[in-house]
Amino acid sequence: MAVKAPRGTADLLPQEARAWDQLSRLALRIFGSYGYEPIETPIFEQTDMFTRGIGEATDVVGKEMFQVLSKNAYATLLEGGKLAADQRLSLRPEGTASVVRAVQEHNLVPSGAAPAKLMYFGPMFRCERPQKGRLRQFHQIGAECLGAHEPSVDAEMIIMLMRFFEKAGVPRSNMRLIINSMGDDNCRPAYRDSVRDFILAHGSELCDECNRRAHTNPLRALDCKNPACKQVLAAAPTIDNALCDDCRAHYEAVKAYLDMAGIEYVEDPHLVRGLDYYTNTVFEVQVIDGLGSQNAIGGGGRYDKLMESVGGKPTPGIGFALGFERLMLALEAAGVQLGGGSNLDVFVACVDASMRAASFKVLQSLRDAGVRADADHQARSLKSQFKLADKLAAPLVVVVGPDEFERGEVTLRDMASKEQRNVSIEELPTAVKGLLGE
Ligand SMILES: [Zn+2]
Ligand SMILES: [Zn+2]
Repeated sequence: MAVKAPRGTADLLPQEARAWDQLSRLALRIFGSYGYEPIETPIFEQTDMFTRGIGEATDVVGKEMFQVLSKNAYATLLEGGKLAADQRLSLRPEGTASVVRAVQEHNLVPSGAAPAKLMYFGPMFRCERPQKGRLRQFHQIGAECLGAHEPSVDAEMIIMLMRFFEKAGVPRSNMRLIINSMGDDNCRPAYRDSVRDFILAHGSELCDECNRRAHTNPLRALDCKNPACKQVLAAAPTIDNALCDDCRAHYEAVKAYLDMAGIEYVEDPHLVRGLDYYTNTVFEVQVIDGLGSQNAIGGGGRYDKLMESVGGKPTPGIGFALGFERLMLALEAAGVQLGGGSNLDVFVACVDASMRAASFKVLQSLRDAGVRADADHQARSLKSQFKLADKLAAPLVVVVGPDEFERGEVTLRDMASKEQRNVSIEELPTAVKGLLGE
């Protein structure tokens, strides 16, 4: 039986791969206009880095990480031995922890320096049950800003994310931006306790997971998807009443900047992002129509304590990530097709086999001039070559025939207007580029 791709993975076929490339380049361009530069971190890291950075009690670290074992480490485990820290490796389940690790390792934010503004795109890995729009290997685009606590950075991040989605083609009217403040070490512990007490008081009405979370990570229970839990938890204490003065001022400033930029938002005092490390601003962008209950297409938040938890000096930070696969579903729902169009500018046809070598030479000269060109490689008749050019949606066809070639010319045909003329071989690339509007 033929081997298939592993469960929960998907090949990005040419059209999807082109869409991924287009979106990555769009991100480079848009985030670049806000001063963000690309960074690439390894696809696997020491497991401890994720455990410390993301948090042991999260699903991501607790249940969903793919472990990476070298042959030696695997043998050690089989023999009942213990692995050293640098043998305990995992595929990255998200991008933030690695970027923060890299910033610390290379001291990208020395004291007094301007913040490091970094962006990344690439595959992430989570060993969860595959479902629509949720894969074990998925693709994310993200940005992180380290070294500044000012609310203007939070606002800039959110505006940048919204602009990206708009430019990608998600209609503004079909997006909902949700924001909240999760407080900080000063005010969150008391809030956390009040949520824990609420869960314990309503324990019999809530699912096992919520009850378990009361002890490990009570705020995560607010994110429970169980409809019965949702109803009960709607009455749970909200953080807006619990924020300390600093956190409240920070949150108000972020909102004022968003208002200034004309960005609409909905405040949800129960919005908690899945990971332990968030402080202050958190945000999520949802698609209103077309994605069902899995409607979040991106989100992020501030993580001022994360750097310390991976062993660095205190460095405030904020970031977001957006999922390529979810975004593609949202674009599909909006009728936007990325990655389409012809991948060919010119098809080079030869009238018969005697002109094959001459036509190969013309083809190569077009490619060397930077024109996307291709030809038949299966000895098709001229008629079949035209059919193929049609199928490949080539806007132009060059026909290489003996008489014209003798005079140093070929025939250039515009497939839309059906107009054709003879062009000298030297001038062909220029003539082609002229017709393509370059
Ligand atoms: Zn629940
Ligand atoms: Zn606070």
